[in-house]
Amino acid sequence: MLTYPIPMVPGPVSVPREVMEAYLVDYGSADIEVEFLDLYRQTVRQMQVLMGTRNDVVLHTGEGMIALWGALKSVLVPGDKVLAVSTGIFGSGIGAMAQSIGAEVRTIQYGFNQTLDDLEEVEIAVREFKPKMITVVHCETPSGTLNPIQALGALKVKYEIPLLYMDCVASMAGTPVESDAWHVDLALGGSQKALSAPPSMSMVAVSDAAWRVMEQVGYVGYDALLPLRRAADTPGQFPYTPNWHGVAALHTAARMILNTEGFSACIQRHAEVAQAAREGLMALGLALFYAEGAIPSPTVTAVNVPQGWKWEDFDAALRAKGLVVGGSYGPMAGNVFRLGHMGSQARMDLVTQALDVIAAVI
Ligand SMILES: *Cc1c(COP(=O)(O)O)cnc(C)c1O
Repeated sequence: MLTYPIPMVPGPVSVPREVMEAYLVDYGSADIEVEFLDLYRQTVRQMQVLMGTRNDVVLHTGEGMIALWGALKSVLVPGDKVLAVSTGIFGSGIGAMAQSIGAEVRTIQYGFNQTLDDLEEVEIAVREFKPKMITVVHCETPSGTLNPIQALGALKVKYEIPLLYMDCVASMAGTPVESDAWHVDLALGGSQKALSAPPSMSMVAVSDAAWRVMEQVGYVGYDALLPLRRAADTPGQFPYTPNWHGVAALHTAARMILNTEGFSACIQRHAEVAQAAREGLMALGLALFYAEGAIPSPTVTAVNVPQGWKWEDFDAALRAKGLVVGGSYGPMAGNVFRLGHMGSQARMDLVTQALDVIAAVI
């Protein structure tokens, strides 16, 4: 089995034993059992807390990408205008995904080491382009950054843009996500980041406005959201066999955060561990990736690969000492590595061990 004593990959994160044990129970056919429907509804309420919303939440079998695709396909038809506000790989990737299903996409591209601040260019685009939907990413995992969403949500309201789509896969459960306060219509999450469940589930919070658009669009497909809208109300309504094990694991993971630890303590733990990681890395003379004035994410830290090292060699040297970190993608590939201190990995002792290994290697 491939295991490392110091796991710091920014998702999938290591899964606590209690969450794994939720998988081991032998269940019946989920969609017709009232116990499952009850568990599903309870889990929905937990996700509403973690995503800061009173909107409906649907749970999908499949990890984050199915939520991202399913939400796009459920609300877009060819020719629809989408404004992709991007500070990184996922931000521009979502624009490319929307384009692939026929949308007319305009991308506002910030630097991959920046976060949203001055929205002047965005505001001009919103006014002139009049998109049907704005898309944005809360935590840009490959960049280790966290975008403030509030002001973008205010622009959406000001210019009466129908929909705001927000990827909060790598932020939810590690930092406050306020979907309703930020006027988000589609908030998209996944199970294997700060929630620390296996990569089997995703969740989408859907506003009434988004449901209305979905009714007009009428998208049909495995990842369609509309068939899940009332699926848990009565037995036999799911469009496919729901993943009882996955929902049980998600429920247990969320209970550990919301009840055992407490949500505010969990958020604080992430903030403290992230700060310790940043300070420790800088003390080693390493350069953090994010630009001055940008906001680092409490769930993941991106660092420049130390000078004189090839990423592959650096990675191998860390692994030889039991530490596994993440590389990065796109323009950061080979130049940036990442410590994923989210969920089960947001632990001070883990960060200390990781810093010790990095210090020894460099
Ligand atoms: C992990 C992640 C996703 C989902 O990707 P998976 O294929 O589920 O791993 C989406 N967006 C962001 C920002 C992520 O970090």
